[in-house]
Amino acid sequence: MRQLLQFMSKKSKINVTNASSSSLHLNLFSRRLHAPTSQSPSFGIAFDIDGVLLRGDSPIGGSPQALKRLYYDSATYSISSLKIPYVFLTNGGGVPESKRAEELGKQLGVNILPLQVIQGHTPFRELVKRYENDLIVAAGKGEPANVMSEYGFKNVLSLDEYASCFENIDPLAQYKKWTKMRAVDRQMALTTDPCSQRVRAVFIVSDPVDWSRDIQVLCDILRTGGLPGREIAHQPPIYFANDDLAYQALFPAERLGMGAFRIALESIFNRIHPNNMEYTSFGKPSPFVFKNAENVLTQVLQSAYNNVQAGGETPPLKSLYMIGDNPSVDVKGARQAGHPWFSILTRTGVFKGKENHAEYPADVVVDCVEEAVDYILRKECIS
Ligand SMILES: [Mg+2]
Repeated sequence: MRQLLQFMSKKSKINVTNASSSSLHLNLFSRRLHAPTSQSPSFGIAFDIDGVLLRGDSPIGGSPQALKRLYYDSATYSISSLKIPYVFLTNGGGVPESKRAEELGKQLGVNILPLQVIQGHTPFRELVKRYENDLIVAAGKGEPANVMSEYGFKNVLSLDEYASCFENIDPLAQYKKWTKMRAVDRQMALTTDPCSQRVRAVFIVSDPVDWSRDIQVLCDILRTGGLPGREIAHQPPIYFANDDLAYQALFPAERLGMGAFRIALESIFNRIHPNNMEYTSFGKPSPFVFKNAENVLTQVLQSAYNNVQAGGETPPLKSLYMIGDNPSVDVKGARQAGHPWFSILTRTGVFKGKENHAEYPADVVVDCVEEAVDYILRKECIS
C-alpha cells in the first residue's frame, strides 16, 4: 500500500504534447481573438461519463450544449478556444485514451485531447517500469491488451489470447457458441510459448465478458504463481481498474460492475487457496484518482492558457467540481478528496432520488449535467 501511495502521489507524467508547439501561435491568436483579457479561470470541472453525459452511446441531460458552454464562441470547440478546463473522470474503459477521446468528441460535438480522458485503468501506466518486459495478462471487454501496450508494457496478452494457448483450460468453451478461440497473434507469442512463461501480474482493465472462463483462468494464474496447471505457489499481483459494484447502462436497473466480478473471484479464490486474495483497486472513489485529476486539470489549463501568460506559473485551482450520478463513487470520492473538491449529483443515472442521497450527500443535487454546468458558471460569475 505504501508503494501504491508513492506512485500515485507522483505528479502525473501524462504527455501534454497533444497541444503541439506548432499550434501555439494559432492558439495565441485564437485566445486573443476570444478573450482580450486572457484571464484564466481559477476552477475546473471533472465529468463522469456514464449516467451523466451518456447513456450507452447516446448523449443525455443536454451534455453537448453543456460542454460547448465551456468554450469561447467558436466553430471549432478545441483546446485553442477552451475557456474552462475540464476532464472526463470515469471508472469505465477498455480502449486507449486516444481512441476514447475521439469517440467522445464525435458523441458530444467538441474536440477532446487524450489528456482530458482519465479512465479507470489510466493509473496502470504508472506501473510500466515495474513490469515493462514481464509477461502480463490484461482482462476485460474492448481492447485490454492494446490499452496496456499503449502505456508501454511490452509483453502483454489479453486473457482471450492467453486462454487460447492452453488446451481445455475452459471446460465449458464448447458450449459457448458465441466465442471463437483464436490463436495468439501478438509479437511476443511468436518468439516464446506463453504457457511456459510465468505471468508476473494481472490487470483487469475493463468489465470482464466471460465470467466463468475468466474466473477459472485467473484462479489458475493466481494460485500457481503465474504458471497454470503447475503446483500451488505465491500469488502474483492483480490490479483492478475500479471497484464499482454496479453502474447504469441501457437497462433500467443497474448492472453488475467490476467490483461484483472482484467479489466473485475473491470469494472463490479464498475457498480454493490457503491465503486470501491480495489485490489493488483503482478508480473513483480513491482520493489518489482525484489528486491526479487535479494535476491533469492544471495541465489542461496550461495547454489552453499558458502560452498567453508567457512563462508564468499557473496558480492552483481554487475550486474543483465533480459532476457524477453515483453517490458512492462520485460524491463519496469528492467528499473524501476534500477541499477544493465540490460534488454535484445528477438524477440521470444511478441516483434517481428526489432529495439528496442519505449516506453520501452531494453539495448540490440537480436534474442533469446542463443544469450542473449552469450552476457552476453562475457560482463562478462566468457569463
Ligand atoms: Mg456514472
